[in-house]
Amino acid sequence: MNDGLYLRFLGAAREVGRSSVELYYRGTRVILDSGVNLGASLEDRFPVDPEGPVDAVLLTHAHLDHSGYTPKLVKENDCPIYATPPTRDVSEILLIDYLNLYPKEEGKPFEHRDIMALRKKEKLIQYYAPSQVGDVEFIPFSAGHVLGSAMFLIKTDHGNILYTGDINTTGTRTLRGADTNLPEVNYLIIESTYGGNQDIHPSRKKVEKQFVENIRETLLSGGVVIIPAFALGRAQEVILTLIHYLESGKLPEVPIFVDGMIREVSKIYSLYWSWLRPELQRRVRQSKRSVFDHKAIEEVRNRDEILELTEPFIVVTTSGMLQGGPVIIYLKKFAGDKRNLIYLTGYQVKGTRGRMLLDGIREIPLSDDEKIVVEARVEFADFSAHSDQSGLLGFISKLKGLKEVILVHGEYSKMIDLREKLRRRGIATFIPSIGEKVYLNY
Ligand SMILES: [Zn+2]
Ligand SMILES: [Zn+2]
Repeated sequence: MNDGLYLRFLGAAREVGRSSVELYYRGTRVILDSGVNLGASLEDRFPVDPEGPVDAVLLTHAHLDHSGYTPKLVKENDCPIYATPPTRDVSEILLIDYLNLYPKEEGKPFEHRDIMALRKKEKLIQYYAPSQVGDVEFIPFSAGHVLGSAMFLIKTDHGNILYTGDINTTGTRTLRGADTNLPEVNYLIIESTYGGNQDIHPSRKKVEKQFVENIRETLLSGGVVIIPAFALGRAQEVILTLIHYLESGKLPEVPIFVDGMIREVSKIYSLYWSWLRPELQRRVRQSKRSVFDHKAIEEVRNRDEILELTEPFIVVTTSGMLQGGPVIIYLKKFAGDKRNLIYLTGYQVKGTRGRMLLDGIREIPLSDDEKIVVEARVEFADFSAHSDQSGLLGFISKLKGLKEVILVHGEYSKMIDLREKLRRRGIATFIPSIGEKVYLNY
């Protein structure tokens, strides 16, 4: 056996959550992402341990299922963490929030100071600029997923490995699709969140049209619209969509409140406007204002006042899967009324309250022996920041020199669907299980 180059799957193996891949090459060990599983019990919440001391962590983006365990990993190994500047800034916000909401009785995985300590260990990266850790050379490319999201091309003597993290190949309101003009990729480690045969994202235009129509109906009949959204990515897409349709007169002029972490993350979007799609950059250059500046948009300062409002309004708030955050307060107040609308906007991990709601459950348990009975209308808008099956296949088929595809970050049944589609195209595909080790230089 030659231990010159191997991969080990520390998480996100046949599951969505706790993304983490160990890459060992000629004595250098790097960890690609180190996330948490937000829907899992303590036992399956964190990635399994790497086989030895870690030389560097490479972070694709700030979502907690990729970044949530980095403070612990960096602390234990006293190693650098490579990330783009927006990812660095957003992940700090999300990590603090994660720690603040972490159930005390379960023992926090790290301390506030460990999050702060990441700043001293950070190595900032830019798209297309190569970096080196020991014998591992890597180049970040844009993954098109959220602000600052990267995929990593790792060069070895045994071939190039591409780790996508989360990837979106189609453009959205905030970002251009992922880079597809890549050097040769021999081994591809790719997410498969929407890799299933049923996973066909409708066009964004269609999604927005339905979204706006449903919201309009609710508002005109005097209801309140609650839009739970992930603080990073989805919320900004939702806010820009609402602004667009307000401006075109398709949505009635009602206040749009923005609550939770979304406020802070949107500030980072405003700060790093040059990482947004070119149309938005132009708009910022011309207007000298944030893309989220609009008279209808209000940050929530006094939540009690909003809870007392009798007029229709929209609130965009965290958390996107209803696992915590201000959305719970809004649900407690508004979910019991038929006139209101709860609009889920993102992937709902198994075991989360959002998933229960999506699956038709109308009595949603809260942690403290309490439950919310949902009478409000529930809708789902597919504002996905991930490629669907045909998007993934399209991306894969454009790669040159491909020997094998390794599927991570997906439900097992969807991975099987995708593997079958790839097999028909003559592409070898592997679905690792947790902790499994794969040698690439056989
Ligand atoms: Zn993500
Ligand atoms: Zn993810």
